[in-house]
Amino acid sequence: MEWCVSLPKVELHAHLNGSIRDSTLLELARVLGEKGVIVFSDVEHVILKNDRSLTEVFKLFDLIHILTTDHTTVKRITQEVIEDFASENVVYLELRTTPKRNDSIGMTKRSYMEAVMEGLRAVSTVDVAFAPHNVDAGSLRESLPINDACDGKRKKIYVQLLLSIDRRESTASAMETVKLALEMRDLGVLGIDLSGNPVVGEWMTYLPALEFAREHGLYITLHCGEVPNPKEIQAMLDFIPQRVGHACYFEDDDWKKLKHFNIPVEICLTSNIVTASVSSIDVHHFADLYNAKHPIVLCTDDAGVFSTSLSNEYKVAASAFGLGKREMFQLAKNAIEFIFADDGVKQDLRKTFDLATKKLD
Ligand code: 5GP
Repeated sequence: MEWCVSLPKVELHAHLNGSIRDSTLLELARVLGEKGVIVFSDVEHVILKNDRSLTEVFKLFDLIHILTTDHTTVKRITQEVIEDFASENVVYLELRTTPKRNDSIGMTKRSYMEAVMEGLRAVSTVDVAFAPHNVDAGSLRESLPINDACDGKRKKIYVQLLLSIDRRESTASAMETVKLALEMRDLGVLGIDLSGNPVVGEWMTYLPALEFAREHGLYITLHCGEVPNPKEIQAMLDFIPQRVGHACYFEDDDWKKLKHFNIPVEICLTSNIVTASVSSIDVHHFADLYNAKHPIVLCTDDAGVFSTSLSNEYKVAASAFGLGKREMFQLAKNAIEFIFADDGVKQDLRKTFDLATKKLD
């Protein structure tokens, strides 16, 4: 495990509210318990539970959102989540979150995202860098630091943001999120994710917003095939997103199309096993895709909810699929090619991995 922690890693599928430390959730729940908003003893075991079905996961998210949807807490969890990823040598993080309204406290989708940005700036254990939209490699250096100056000596993590559309949202609400993403491009927002309970909503509801996003140059990743829904899976693949997450319930035609379009897959091993979206690790589609040299990237999904870390996902892959250190290193490095940031960032990350090669031997 120590080696997996030392390995530089790229995280491309992490939901902010799924990545919160248990200790923080418990602390927040205790405070709301004292205020009489919730009954602490009822939620404590829900937070600490290890096995959860997909349905239970979405119930837990409803609880987490009650605990976290205020500006101060959004700022806090953003800071903590970034510091946690950086502490296990994640060198590039695409963090996704659903901009939320909370009228009772005057929260708009924009002010929610501003709190996220404050959290980014508050990170103190590591230098946080990001590449705004359309910056060429030459001028990249100057645009990087968003907290204290990156002095080249301290650890650095790139943090880019993806805004999520929740499947419960209407077309208008999805469009609002896309427009917000476009307005926040200079602050490191690179794209749009479609997520939320996969048994809720219809693909056609989000399609206009996703098309609008694409027309305006935002990158798109879709949660695809988390439940058996052949029509939707085909429609999503026909859209040709830049990446898909999960791909658990694909049939032969879906694999063919995925491979034909060469769409990278964000693989979340622990999440898929805990939610029973895949019955056991030895039948996980990681193996087929890996052997076919299809683009894949290991990700956590929800490090807090599934009690995992990106280092642990590499360890799980190594022991389940017999990967050695060389293969794990290459797997981690390959992920650079599927990030949404520009070539300048890719070049910088390649250098980071090349430097690490010597240390990790
Ligand atoms: P947030 O966007 O609030 O920061 O992170 C939590 C949200 O991400 C959840 O409410 C849900 O919409 C989405 N999410 C987290 N994990 C999963 C997952 O495994 N599958 C899907 N479809 N959505 C998820």
